[in-house]
Amino acid sequence: MSDWEIEPLRETETVPRGSVRWGRLFGYLKPYRLRMAGAISALIVSSAVGLAFPLVIVQLLETVLSDRRLESLNALALGLIGLFLIQAVFTFIESYNLAFIGERIILDLRTGLYRRLQTLSLDFFATHRTGELISRMSSDVTQVRTMLTTNVTALLGQIVSLVGSIVIVFLLNPGLTAFILILVPVLLVVAFAFGRPLQRAATRVQDELAGATAAAEEGLQGVRIVKSFAREEYEIKRYAEAMGRTFKQAMGLATFRSLFAAAMAFLGFGAIGLILWFGGREVLEGRLTLPMISGFLIYGFTIAANLGGLASFYTSLREALGSIRRVFELLDTQPTITEAPDAKALPSIAGRITFDDVSFSYEDRIAVLKNITLDITPGEIVALVGPSGAGKSTLFNLIPRFYDASQGAVRIDGVDVRSVTLHSLRAQIGIVPQETLLFSGSIHDNIAYGRLDAREHDIIAAAKAAHAHDFIMAMPDGYKTLVGERGVRLSGGQRQRVAIARAILKDPRILLLDEATSALDSESEELVQDALERLMQGRTTVIIAHRLSTIKIANRIVALDKGEIVELGTHDELMALDGLYARLYQLQFRE
Ligand code: ATP
Repeated sequence: MSDWEIEPLRETETVPRGSVRWGRLFGYLKPYRLRMAGAISALIVSSAVGLAFPLVIVQLLETVLSDRRLESLNALALGLIGLFLIQAVFTFIESYNLAFIGERIILDLRTGLYRRLQTLSLDFFATHRTGELISRMSSDVTQVRTMLTTNVTALLGQIVSLVGSIVIVFLLNPGLTAFILILVPVLLVVAFAFGRPLQRAATRVQDELAGATAAAEEGLQGVRIVKSFAREEYEIKRYAEAMGRTFKQAMGLATFRSLFAAAMAFLGFGAIGLILWFGGREVLEGRLTLPMISGFLIYGFTIAANLGGLASFYTSLREALGSIRRVFELLDTQPTITEAPDAKALPSIAGRITFDDVSFSYEDRIAVLKNITLDITPGEIVALVGPSGAGKSTLFNLIPRFYDASQGAVRIDGVDVRSVTLHSLRAQIGIVPQETLLFSGSIHDNIAYGRLDAREHDIIAAAKAAHAHDFIMAMPDGYKTLVGERGVRLSGGQRQRVAIARAILKDPRILLLDEATSALDSESEELVQDALERLMQGRTTVIIAHRLSTIKIANRIVALDKGEIVELGTHDELMALDGLYARLYQLQFRE
């Protein structure tokens, strides 16, 4: 099999391919139907003007050849320029409106896709690469736009020109029309023959492109790791190979496209040759004038070009089909964590967390949590400890319903988390992750992320409580200092304190704390520790603990191993057991 031959489509996705219903696709034009009608009308006018052009040429030639009068020539030339001017105006109207509709469709589709992505549950993001999703939002959406605007209107323009030309030629000379119409079935056969291979080739280009985008995205996202392992060349190679595969597929597509274009050109010019031959005979026998045959030739070109255009429309449609599917498929993906139809808002909680015989497995069905029963009273601080992979983060993730228990129930104040609205549940839970992501924007905005309507003095109070105020004030623009990719870099300890300020501002009843493992210098450590203690005050807190100082303040410690609670109690009680916790303590926590 040579490089460009088409293998059967691979199903690379975990979600089923979205179906393409034409009504749904063209539904995207609906809000812009008036504009579309305007663009199409302008297009019909400019196509009609285009149709009149050969007639004017015939007139022009006949005037020059027979009349030999300069005034008629001048008038005709002027008329011709007038016609082109009209055409130019309508072309502008068409092109401008089409561009408007196209850009709006891109806006609608991209925001629709982004909205969908934001509603999807975490399991979706665990199985899909960001780069692939971005590729769908960018490249595939562009394809859909082109299909709906440029291609659809080109099709209409072609139909107008085609039908018009055929009618005019038929009126002028029915015999010649037959020659032209022979083309139709031949073109149809060629277009259908090329349609499916083109669709497959285009889908493969988009698939490979998505893979390459994902490779680049990972390499850039993880650039620190890349550099720390000196793996730049490896990453470059990985991307170059992915782009190489994209190139190969793109060339496969280009081969089909070029063959198709060549076939179209041959058929078109072949038809012109036939017209010349037949028309020439008619001229020789005195049934047709030379200007007439010139007019026919121009119409012949128009008809051939538009027939070719129709065939191309069909093949572009097949090519775009893959992209349309990928876009619809993403739009149709449903979140796995959904609200019950009768979900009520969770009222203000006291903060009791109950795990009632909870078991959990990810998609691979291996039990990660087994029969967890645990009751955390309001205001209690519970530390989760256990070896890596024991299930600490998983247990954590069940509380805000990032995942749902496979068996048993998680309750907050006695209410099953699955029976309340996600917003009301998560609004009362604060999460301080190991690694804090700062959004690009000011420090102020980053803290206010915890409560968007917070006032200035609340933000400053939160920053003060989190021991962040002093370092913020020492920065060039204070709270207005820009952070994130284009702004000031914060140290690990500073980022943690911003995250704590965010959580303090949110003021949740339940706090989930995934303690950072990275070591801080002792001064920073002390500030973070103190800020955390303030944050925990009066809240039910579950901590994935990595520091002795944190475990020390916990009321109870839960030792997890292989998804099961193996020990539960205070530090002293667990030390007395001399089991898993005592071992971990010796290895991990003793300072
Ligand atoms: P660590 O201390 O290393 O962070 P942990 O105790 O928090 O570990 P979890 O992250 O809860 O452990 O993972 C428990 C098990 O579940 C591991 O075996 C892990 O491989 C698996 N696991 C975690 N996330 C997923 C996922 N999205 N899909 C499938 N399996 C997962």
